[in-house]
Amino acid sequence: MSFVSHVECTICGARHDAKRLLTVCEKCGQMLAVRYDLVRVTASVTKDALRLRAPSMYRFRELTPLDDAERPVTLGEGGTPLLELPRLAAHLGIGKLWAKDEGQNPTGSFKARGLGMAITRARTLGARGFVIPSAGNAGGAAAVYAARCGLPCVVIVPRGTPSAAVAEAQIAGAHVFTIEGSIATAGKVAAKVAPQLGWFDLSTLKEPYRLEGKKTIGLELAEQLGWRMPDLLLYPTGGGTGLVGIPKGYEELRAMGWLSGALPRFFAVQAEGCAPVVKAFADGAETTTAWENPTTHAAGLRVPSPFAGRQMLRLLRDTRGGAVAIGEAAIREAQRLVARTEGIWTAPESAALVAALAELKDRGEAFRDAEILLILTGAGLKYEPPPLAAPTDLAGTEEEILARVRRVAGA
Ligand SMILES: *Cc1c(COP(=O)(O)O)cnc(C)c1O
Ligand SMILES: [Zn+2]
Repeated sequence: MSFVSHVECTICGARHDAKRLLTVCEKCGQMLAVRYDLVRVTASVTKDALRLRAPSMYRFRELTPLDDAERPVTLGEGGTPLLELPRLAAHLGIGKLWAKDEGQNPTGSFKARGLGMAITRARTLGARGFVIPSAGNAGGAAAVYAARCGLPCVVIVPRGTPSAAVAEAQIAGAHVFTIEGSIATAGKVAAKVAPQLGWFDLSTLKEPYRLEGKKTIGLELAEQLGWRMPDLLLYPTGGGTGLVGIPKGYEELRAMGWLSGALPRFFAVQAEGCAPVVKAFADGAETTTAWENPTTHAAGLRVPSPFAGRQMLRLLRDTRGGAVAIGEAAIREAQRLVARTEGIWTAPESAALVAALAELKDRGEAFRDAEILLILTGAGLKYEPPPLAAPTDLAGTEEEILARVRRVAGA
């Protein structure tokens, strides 16, 4: 049984029929969100019952928008580990540091959750193909889930998008296009060509179901932390799906009485070369303004005009959080630091979170007793590695080879 009550505009509150293939608010053009009959959800599931279910994005089925018998288009997304990072915490002088390692999802990024859910619902509601503008990982994920259900997909990415994400979309049979500019340029083409093809436009948060996929990170976190919330939560912010989705999950559990207390302080972390949310937050603005000439090697952060700017800024202010911009060199250094101290080769986007912790400490945040959670959104394997020294080559006699290894390894 679906527990969805209706779909609602996040700005003007207009109600929409959840049985239709929806995009944005028909009244004001803003972002839609799915609402549930939480009283009925509370009466239908217990924490103990939940504990017996398989770890997956669909574990908390009652809080997903799926119909009664609807089969998800799935590759096993969700159920990612919550990892304690004691060595990195000690290095940074932080009380308790946790990471949700979303790089362990199919496709190597948390985009699998959002696109898996969006494509599941769109297919059920009649979509015959998909068009997606992307900075990389979303396009790869859309292509993969489209292939999984046998539907065609157009992916439009900026030139210079990390090659693994482009290859991922191509090998899954998508029609992949590159374009000069950013995801914003790609988005304009997608919006025009999707109706011409008769296919569904999966642009970030311009349909209500990708958010429901991202929300499951919040549901999993709540359970994994023992039905508590952390003090601070840092999120690498492009279009902001997690920054809107994770608190949505927390709020629903709070309304059910499964969580109590204040939301964590949410922090948006961006790249210095593309920081519209950081700028709008510092300016006290209500929404973001388009960032000119966005540049960063953290491809997922290269989003010059996020559609959900308003919703993100509202959350950052309501939770007394903040926003931090990180430079390219600091991102690369942080990527090496996380791998060296904890063994996690995370994506550059999420490595920026670690640099942001250092920056926040410099600003005077006291983290000694804080419990901090990082959303590590993707796997570093999908990107060019940061600069590393060439491995030492072994040649010569056996004795020379052994001597070299001893000398270099420093026994
Ligand atoms: C897309 C992406 C982001 C940004 O996510 P948004 O939901 O667009 O804010 C961060 N990290 C990685 C690895 C991504 O692929
Ligand atoms: Zn509206």
